[in-house]
Amino acid sequence: MLDDILGHVMNLRANPVWRRMPDEIRTGFNDPIPAAPTDLATVHRRFMEEILPYGGGNAHPGFMGWVQGGGTAVGMVADMLASGLNGNLGGRDHAPIEVERQILRWVRDLFGFPESAEGIFVTGTSIANLIGVLVARTHALGASVRRTGVEAGKLTAYASVASHESITRAMEMSGLGSDALRMIEVNEKDQMDLAALEVAINSDRANGLTPFLIAASAGTVDIGAIDDLHAIADVAEREHVWLHVDGAYAALGMLAPDIAPRLRGIERADSLAFDFHKWGQVPYDAGFILVRDGQLQRETFASNPAYLAHDQRGMAAGDWWPCDYGPDLSRSFRALKTWFTLMVLGSDALGASISRTCTIATELARMIEANAELELLAPVQLNIVCFRYRCDNADAINARIIADLQEGGVVAPSLTRIHGKVAIRAAIVNHRTEMRDVRALVEATLALGRAMLNGEPQ
Ligand SMILES: *Cc1c(COP(=O)(O)O)cnc(C)c1O
Repeated sequence: MLDDILGHVMNLRANPVWRRMPDEIRTGFNDPIPAAPTDLATVHRRFMEEILPYGGGNAHPGFMGWVQGGGTAVGMVADMLASGLNGNLGGRDHAPIEVERQILRWVRDLFGFPESAEGIFVTGTSIANLIGVLVARTHALGASVRRTGVEAGKLTAYASVASHESITRAMEMSGLGSDALRMIEVNEKDQMDLAALEVAINSDRANGLTPFLIAASAGTVDIGAIDDLHAIADVAEREHVWLHVDGAYAALGMLAPDIAPRLRGIERADSLAFDFHKWGQVPYDAGFILVRDGQLQRETFASNPAYLAHDQRGMAAGDWWPCDYGPDLSRSFRALKTWFTLMVLGSDALGASISRTCTIATELARMIEANAELELLAPVQLNIVCFRYRCDNADAINARIIADLQEGGVVAPSLTRIHGKVAIRAAIVNHRTEMRDVRALVEATLALGRAMLNGEPQ
């Protein structure tokens, strides 16, 4: 099994980025729970034939859809070791907890947070954003809100229209309600408009509401815009409002010397959500929440039922239990694949791969701008390029180009809308993506666009 999967990872280019799982294979997964055993080799053969060829494609160098990491072989085998150990990282006294704490110390350093900052692994930034909102809620209302609950609509939050959907969902899930989230306009670079932010805060205060949270973006999902974090931190400070930064994919730009200066101000966040599984290339899933005031994070989640009592001796010793800092009790050993990735590759190599994705995106943008048949739809700020084939009926044609590209299996961008226009969106995240892949994207887009204009059957 190890040989097969390593062979797969070594030969990704030999296969399509993605292919649709055929119906006859799909229906094979409708069988009931097997009462009798099946030998391992047979089940493995089914994996090789029915699952592996029909994966999501994000490990492939031609994958440019959405914002997803490529993973590494190192992370993969580390995950196998973690499964073998089968650690439960809810708490107690064992080495895996120390590995997670080491990652916490590393990211405190990386983002310039104080030693009093706390943080834990979570599935992803969606949950990290939720935790940020919940700790901000404690900051505004005190820990008693855990008993009393909230009155929806009283606490108001602010995020830009370019912010990720998970901020809205965090407001829904926290009981504060998404109606209390003000969607602030953006400037021409898709950054939160600070004047509009101030107007919204003042108007809510004038109406007797309590502004409690600004959720800034470090790397918007559509075009990779980074809000002016310093300026927003100034507003948050002045207004005594919590500053949460959604740095899902771009916060790890701190590892790249040429990207890090763009993230200035991130060290002033009260809470920071980010993923190791995007630009950090750690296999899914590996999100992280970092909170400046660790005590407040603990007050938001810790509880002490007798069976979870922390002890002075024995297996229940140790004062740092991740279950006190987030909603999960049982947790997997996500720290190990992250630790292996950072140890074996080193942060310089990860930073270099982050820089390289931005260079490739810039080159792609240059190729698009040099071609009269193509139109760049948004300035390239990091690693995301939004463009389209110029023609009449461009929305429909470009949507067809995207679907054809995805089904073609060579390069797979995704679709978004920029100012209402359908855009071909190429997010270069995978460390395996090379210049030849974006050249293939341009060539295939031109060929498909021309063929559609000429009415050729696809
Ligand atoms: C991917 C992403 C998220 C969601 O993160 P998950 O790890 O998928 O939960 C949130 N915000 C931004 C900006 C993202 O790019």
